[in-house]
Amino acid sequence: MRVLILGDMEGVGGVVHWDQIMAGGALYQEGRRLYTEEINAAARGAFMAGAERVVVVDSHGAGAAGNMAGQAFNSLVPELLDERLESVTHHGWGNYTELLEEGCDAVFFVGIHAMDGTEDGVLSHTISTRHFKAVHINGTRVGEIGIIAALSGHFGVPMALVTGDSAACREARELLGPDLRAVSVKHGLSRYSARHVAPARARSMIEEGAREALGSLTQMRPYKVECPVTVTFDIIRPDQMAKYRRIGDLEIEEPLRVHSRGADFPEAWYRVAPYTP
Ligand SMILES: [Zn+2]
Repeated sequence: MRVLILGDMEGVGGVVHWDQIMAGGALYQEGRRLYTEEINAAARGAFMAGAERVVVVDSHGAGAAGNMAGQAFNSLVPELLDERLESVTHHGWGNYTELLEEGCDAVFFVGIHAMDGTEDGVLSHTISTRHFKAVHINGTRVGEIGIIAALSGHFGVPMALVTGDSAACREARELLGPDLRAVSVKHGLSRYSARHVAPARARSMIEEGAREALGSLTQMRPYKVECPVTVTFDIIRPDQMAKYRRIGDLEIEEPLRVHSRGADFPEAWYRVAPYTP
């Protein structure tokens, strides 16, 4: 059995502020350790359930530019990683499909947050707080969970486990169905505050969730979106539209909306995804 884990930091237990997850933040090193240990917990559960290969993709853009750029999708603490894990770092968001193409049994999304605009979603946003207001697939509003589920689903791989705050778990179940294993490690009281379970407890819950998810994998269907596919991006500021006007084959709906169409999800997604910040 092969498992692909996507890791994000906003939904990690104990994390509640950008300072814990953005490069240069006073608490960033703490956030990295909390994050890495939740990834290890998911991996332990997967190996316990019989996985022989587990790859984690760091999907958290901690450093946007300048001297922090090295921390973009590079927040895992390498020396803390479970020795059985392979890791993919510093690779653009939603761009890693190698394992999905080779053949993979399940995708886990660990430490994920709810989509932009979710009132009780801790650090909620969709891909980038500064760039995207919303993303829709064939008219259905989705967050990062939906995008990765659609990408994995294209390759016939189900998302089998989601961990994060209770808002992210709710979003995942609404989209992917009640059979999805969703492990909530904190309950958002606002976008910047939460009631958490302790990290040690969060890790044992995630380990258990991962083991159960693979044990009941047959219940989970890949998330297949109807083809052809339209992915719609709502952009935040007018000046950010310039780059989309330069990409061919996009439909611009003035003032701030971009439609990308494709025969399937990857075609529609990749026309814009390489340009995501
Ligand atoms: Zn993130």
